[in-house]
Amino acid sequence: MTARNTVCIAIDGEAASGKSTLGRLLAGKLGYLYFDTGVMYRAVAWAALQRAIDIHDEQAVTELAAQINIQITPPGCDDGRHYSVFVDGVDVSWAIREPAVDKVVSIVAAYPGVRQVLKGHQRQIGLTHNVVMVGRDIGTEVMPDADLKIYLRAPVEERARRRYLELQARGEEVSYEEVLNSMRQRDYQDSHRAVAPLRAADDAIVIDTGHLSVEEMVTRALKIVRSKLGEHSSVTSCTDSPIR
Ligand code: C5P
Repeated sequence: MTARNTVCIAIDGEAASGKSTLGRLLAGKLGYLYFDTGVMYRAVAWAALQRAIDIHDEQAVTELAAQINIQITPPGCDDGRHYSVFVDGVDVSWAIREPAVDKVVSIVAAYPGVRQVLKGHQRQIGLTHNVVMVGRDIGTEVMPDADLKIYLRAPVEERARRRYLELQARGEEVSYEEVLNSMRQRDYQDSHRAVAPLRAADDAIVIDTGHLSVEEMVTRALKIVRSKLGEHSSVTSCTDSPIR
């Protein structure tokens, strides 16, 4: 524990490495808030596309990030979502997961001004809740003082396979090759940007999820949580409060 009287577990990693699944299940088991920070970057990308703002116009996109109101709440309906995301009151929970957003979100996320706006909100939540926070730069930038940092990785082909199956299940018409290429591009952009590039924090515990089932991944992470956080990690019921 740090001087904060709340606990923050940071989970970072590449796209579809298992971060969201692990974050959500771990948060449920610990009774912590689950916060997937990627939805905020996706919400900005979605809003730019919706308003026909040139995604390469850094100033316009940065202004947009500061203007829009992003809300993340408990699901509120039973269509398979784990939480709802609203942009200025519009439900974008599924729209932000579409391939069109996948294609441009890393461009938006590379803009320092966008990151600054979103990081402020994210850190505020990280400092005031018992939370499992998931993203690309949580352990390095947003919550460098996190109580525990986990970094997930898996081969890109396996990650693309997972994402392809997810998209197929939702009825999206997309080929495996398209998903693989888009993911490779996103990984490259996320890990080569100038500000807060994707990387494991020096003090992160790395888990390779390539050959792990979800159950194995959660069991492994829980073991790490217990050995690192001890009595602060007792399993309780799931919290379901809105985070913004
Ligand atoms: O995690 P997810 O794939 O939904 O994130 C979408 C994109 O948002 C990432 O590819 C990355 O460009 C950006 N992101 C980020 N920092 C975070 C979370 C997400 O740059 N903490």
